[in-house]
Amino acid sequence: MSEIFKQLIDLSRRLGEPGSDFAILGEGNTSARIDDDAFYVKASGTTLQNIDERGFVRVSMSKVLPILDKPDASDADVSWVLHASLLDEGEKRRPSVETMLHALLLRFPEYRFVAHAHPVYTNMLLCSNRAEEAVSGRIFPDQIVSMGHKSVYVPYVDPGLPLAREVRQRLMTFVEQEGMLPRVILMQNHGAIAMGESPKAVLSCLEMTEKASRILVGTYALGGPHFLSEAHVNRIFTRPDEKYRLQSIAGS
Ligand SMILES: [Zn+2]
Repeated sequence: MSEIFKQLIDLSRRLGEPGSDFAILGEGNTSARIDDDAFYVKASGTTLQNIDERGFVRVSMSKVLPILDKPDASDADVSWVLHASLLDEGEKRRPSVETMLHALLLRFPEYRFVAHAHPVYTNMLLCSNRAEEAVSGRIFPDQIVSMGHKSVYVPYVDPGLPLAREVRQRLMTFVEQEGMLPRVILMQNHGAIAMGESPKAVLSCLEMTEKASRILVGTYALGGPHFLSEAHVNRIFTRPDEKYRLQSIAGS
């Protein structure tokens, strides 16, 4: 088994640990890029807790992505594409319905691992009437270190293809405005996605997202969060030297 695959399995089990509050039953999914085109993603219907190599399928990014640009694609088209994107002959399992999200994120060379979960406190915020406001700022220094200076917020849309398209659009806007890639995407009435170069980066981002959310929930009992000013955030956050160029993922 490759090192990447081992790391992906460890990361997935960690997210599925009982008591971690990241995911129960079939919730959550993870992926890792193998090369320029292939990636592992959780198979549909599997549980993160105690997942092993049989819980993942190998999928082709270039076969998944074109459907994002087909405005009239039906549910049947999505099922067909997900099946056709499988790289192993005779594969009987289906990739997670959130495979399109993973494919569009793993297109960025900077993201090697992607983890999506439904953490309890994070979803307390994301399922509330204050979702966008609550996740719009930063409240303490270590949050900035693990999650970056800003998260991508995605208003609720139907799961599957509409969600993948909305996430892509919001991600592009973030990159254009901030000149860098985000570390975390927060989806209203749904959950969080963390992306990164290593399983450690992804896991610490998700853990910090959940910790910050617990604190935020508490602040709403005490009059609401006191967000750090942009100047304070910028003194802690080290911006990349160069602006990130979207051209590097042209065509996605
Ligand atoms: Zn989900």
